[in-house]
Amino acid sequence: MAAPSQPQKSTYDVIVIGAGIQGSFTAYHLAQRHKDTLLLEQFLLPHSRGSSHGQSRIIRSAYPQEYYSRMMPDSFRLWQQLEAETGTTLYRQTGLVLLGPPGEPELEACRRSLGVNEVLDAVALAKLFPGFRLPAGQVAVLDSTGGVLFADRALRAVQEVFRRHGGTLRDGEKVLRIEPGATVTVTTTAGVYKAPRLIITAGPWTGAFVEQLGLHLPLQPVRIDVCYWREKQPGSAGLGSVSPCFLTLGLSQAPHGIYGLPSIEYPGLMKV
Ligand SMILES: Cc1cc2nc3c(=O)[nH]c(=O)nc-3n(C[C@H](O)[C@H](O)[C@H](O)COP(=O)(O)OP(=O)(O)OC[C@H]3O[C@@H](n4cnc5c(N)ncnc54)[C@H](O)[C@@H]3O)c2cc1C
Repeated sequence: MAAPSQPQKSTYDVIVIGAGIQGSFTAYHLAQRHKDTLLLEQFLLPHSRGSSHGQSRIIRSAYPQEYYSRMMPDSFRLWQQLEAETGTTLYRQTGLVLLGPPGEPELEACRRSLGVNEVLDAVALAKLFPGFRLPAGQVAVLDSTGGVLFADRALRAVQEVFRRHGGTLRDGEKVLRIEPGATVTVTTTAGVYKAPRLIITAGPWTGAFVEQLGLHLPLQPVRIDVCYWREKQPGSAGLGSVSPCFLTLGLSQAPHGIYGLPSIEYPGLMKV
C-alpha cells in the first residue's frame, strides 16, 4: 500500500479520481505546477484490475487519427522527462511494423501521419527484420519511433515523482459520491475531501461512475485478451534480437486489429 505523503487533510487545489496511468500522470503534472493535489484510488496499489497494469505497452507515432500523431512528439518528450527525473528506463525503441492490405485506408492514414512514402513488401521487410514473414496480399509500413513502454515501471515511477512533488496518493479508498459546486465535495470509503477542481480518470469505470452526476457518456468498456506465443527459435523474438512490435490493420478476420511485442515479459514468450 502506498503511504500517504503527508498527514490526512481534507482540502486540496485539485482532486483526481483513479490512479491508472492517466490519473497518475495528470496528478504528477498538477503537483509539478505546485497544485496541492489529492489522487484517490479505489484499490490497494499496485493492482491488476484496471487497464494500466502489466509489464509492457506499445508506444508509436503512427495513428490513423491525425490528432493522436500530432501529440506524439510531446508524448515522447514527456516520457523522456520522466525517465530523467526518476533515473529509470521506461522506453525501449524497437520499431513498429504496421501490416495490412495495400491501400487499406487506416494503413494509408498511418503512413501519412508518419510522413513516409515507403511501403515495404515481403522482401524489404525481411531485410530489416529477418524473423518477420509478411503474409501474401499484405504490405508493411515502418514506424521507426515505435517501441515498448515498461508499463508497471512507468506507473510506479510517475506515482513516486507525484509524491516527491508534494502530492498525496491515497489508495484503497473508493470514491462513493461527488457533490458538484464551486467547491466539489468528494466522499470516499474513508473520508470527505473538498477542492475547487475535480478530474475523473476512472478508466472503464467512468461511464457508470459519472451517471450520479446526470452524465450519460457513450462509453463501452472493452475486454482485451492477452495471449503469449512461444518463440519457435529461442531468443529470436526477444529485445536483444532484431524484433519489432507489430500491428495489423484492416483484416476482415480481426476487425479490431492484432498487435504484439517482442518477448520481454516472460523469456521466450511473445505477447500478442
Ligand atoms: C491488455 C491491454 C493492452 C493494452 N495495450 C496497449 C498498448 O500496447 N499501447 C497503448 O497505448 N495502450 C494499450 N492499452 C490501453 C492502455 O493501457 C489504457 O489506455 C490505459 O492504461 C488507460 O489508463 P487509465 O488510467 O485511463 O485507466 P485505468 O488504468 O483503468 O485506471 C483507472 C483507475 O481508476 C480507478 N477507479 C475507478 N473508479 C474509482 C472510484 N470510484 N474511486 C477510486 N478509484 C477509482 C480504478 O481502480 C483504476 O485504477 C492496453 C490496454 C489493455 C487492457
